[in-house]
Amino acid sequence: MAQSDIRVRFAPSPTGPLHMGGVRTALYNYLFARKHKGTFVLRVEDTDRTRYVEGAEQYIIDALNWCGLSYDEGVDKGGDYGPYRQSERSMLYRQYAEKMVQEGTAYYAFDTSEELEAMRERLKQQKSDIQQYNAVTRGDMRNSLTLSREEVNELINKNEPYVIRFKMPEDQHIAVNDLIRGEVEVNTNQLDDKILFKSDGMPTYHLANVVDDREMKISHVIRGEEWLPSLPLHFLLYEALGWKEEMPVFAHLPLILNPSGKGKLSKRDGKKQGFPVFPMQWTDPETGETFKGYKEWGYLPEAFINILAFLGWNPGTDRELYTLDELIEAFELEKVGKAGSKFDPDKAKWFNHQYLMKKSDNELAMLFMPVLKKKGYEPPFEFVREVCSLVKERVYLINEIWDHSFFFFQPPEKYDQKMVKKKWKEHTPELLNELKERLKALDEFQADIIKDTVKKLTQEKEVGMGQVMLPLRISLVGTGMGPDVAKIIEMIGKEETIRRIEKAVENINTGNAS
Ligand code: GLU
Repeated sequence: MAQSDIRVRFAPSPTGPLHMGGVRTALYNYLFARKHKGTFVLRVEDTDRTRYVEGAEQYIIDALNWCGLSYDEGVDKGGDYGPYRQSERSMLYRQYAEKMVQEGTAYYAFDTSEELEAMRERLKQQKSDIQQYNAVTRGDMRNSLTLSREEVNELINKNEPYVIRFKMPEDQHIAVNDLIRGEVEVNTNQLDDKILFKSDGMPTYHLANVVDDREMKISHVIRGEEWLPSLPLHFLLYEALGWKEEMPVFAHLPLILNPSGKGKLSKRDGKKQGFPVFPMQWTDPETGETFKGYKEWGYLPEAFINILAFLGWNPGTDRELYTLDELIEAFELEKVGKAGSKFDPDKAKWFNHQYLMKKSDNELAMLFMPVLKKKGYEPPFEFVREVCSLVKERVYLINEIWDHSFFFFQPPEKYDQKMVKKKWKEHTPELLNELKERLKALDEFQADIIKDTVKKLTQEKEVGMGQVMLPLRISLVGTGMGPDVAKIIEMIGKEETIRRIEKAVENINTGNAS
């Protein structure tokens, strides 16, 4: 339960899946709320019906759940300040927009798109730098500032479509403080008469956002840098609505950049360079294109959170591994940087590796069992646990456990030709056949006994250990990789070992190796 007046919100628009930058915004809000014993709200900003994407809202909820970022109030949770979906609050925005019209800080505008286009064209002809609806142009347009009250009423009664525009004050110097950026300054002559309320009966982002932050008693607005240019307008809206004194504190988070550092990290960067940018899998409902997420790539949610936390923030020490609870403790908005933060896919994997190594063999086996099941294997849990303990050092993603351990479950499908060329000699089949017979004769099939058997054979035949061990590994695994060969042999058992040796000798010797 909240014990302070700190209230923050994550306010995504359901226009598609949540990008990792969005999850980071949610995370920083969450950390800030939890640290200050405040309230974390999930508000869905769905007033732009043209960009609405089916399934996006549920995706956002599922992704936050997977990450463990629980919210206190929100769309599917309720709370004292609901509804939390903006499309269900349109009456409220209309009231405030009308109030602004009454008070003279906003006005009705009836201009058609042709009229707006003509205005821009005229300004272009006049070589005007700024071609927008503002103090200079509004006097020439069809709006409640230029039309008489009767004309306005008549147009409204005739159901003529109209929007409500903000009446941007002229030539005012605006300075708004941002916790991360410092002072953001602008002259209002640079800004236009933004639409606050659209002809479809829905508010625009700006009005709905400001009204809701006020109505939901939001104390701190923590959001992405792309909203920084809107800050002066939001400030003016707070002022126009008479809420300037209670304006929230603003903190605009730096961008997450692609690995080259040139440009914002996009889903295309991920597809091209082979790393996830979404928390979970997303299939575009229109194109059917599918993007695998961190989850499907085999990341642990706790690693994903740690990765995100460090994209824009750092504690000012060398320490990099933090659980969610430790992040709550350490997080400070003041330590969020201004500069864009470059995403490093290798570092992301490194984080995941650290978290995988922290898992017990039991936990790893539990994560790996479903992967095996999908591949059609249901070995005993004990066996899977042992496999995990043998390969975990080499594994960076959960899915890689399979790549590093498939030979415990199935014979190799092919033999690495480079290895074969280097290590498969003329006398190899003879050595392996002899070893096979000796292994067959073993009563106890344990790694150390197996190793002794190989050793004895190499001594008798006066060859180096490698001359048996490497071809043996090729036969069992198909490549030169993997844990201790004797251990692999012990694990897969006598029959399977013999079978694989025979198959390799037959195929590789006869030149059938593929
Ligand atoms: N709906 C906006 C978005 O999609 C929210 C911006 C804000 O947090 O004010 O990012």
